[in-house]
Amino acid sequence: MSPRLGGLFIVASPSGGGKTTIIREVMAAMAERGWPSHFSVSHTTRAPREGEREGVDYHFVDRSTFQTMVTRGEFLEWAEYVGNLYGTSRATVDAQRAGGADVFLDIEVQGAEQVRAHVPEAVSVFVLPPSLAVLRQRLAGRGKDAPAVIEKRIHIAFREMTHYVEFDYVIINDRLDEAVQALDAIVVAAHCRTARRAALAERILDDFRAACTEA
Ligand code: 5GP
Repeated sequence: MSPRLGGLFIVASPSGGGKTTIIREVMAAMAERGWPSHFSVSHTTRAPREGEREGVDYHFVDRSTFQTMVTRGEFLEWAEYVGNLYGTSRATVDAQRAGGADVFLDIEVQGAEQVRAHVPEAVSVFVLPPSLAVLRQRLAGRGKDAPAVIEKRIHIAFREMTHYVEFDYVIINDRLDEAVQALDAIVVAAHCRTARRAALAERILDDFRAACTEA
């Protein structure tokens, strides 16, 4: 029997919102339960940051390679964000889901909108920082950006955060453990949806049908 189709989870948040950490922790919890999951590694034209690895954090490509992939329809979604292009490989997502894995997309709001339009069963989650002060502190804490860059990121974050209403779920990332629990609960709930449980439910009912058929 072929495995049932895995779910598709879109997780968006402004930069510094903590979505990558939350996704990674939920995937670790899923692995302990034996639930297959896959983190979608995007293509981007952005230059690698220090410590980032090809094929692990992103597939780093030039603009012309990216544009060719767009023309060939290879992206499930793609968007321009702060001057760089980002896209999600359709083939990888489809193959992982077909193999039964739940796929997590760590993407920004324009991409999320495209995925929702193409994949109606996708579950979308927006991760909000608990306050302006906390987001500012988190961005400054990374020690990577000058104050002016941080203020620019905060303006971008605000614009993105106004889109939270378009998502199925909102998680306030105040305490990491609680945010992880919340995303995990969303994943468990998605597994229990009738459409995803129907094949298993029917198998259980088959035994009852066999036992309860009137002679
Ligand atoms: P960064 O350059 O900081 O890694 O990512 C910038 C933004 O692009 C983040 O919000 C990240 O989630 C988003 N992003 C990463 N990959 C993709 C993708 O494949 N598609 C879209 N639409 N956004 C992405």
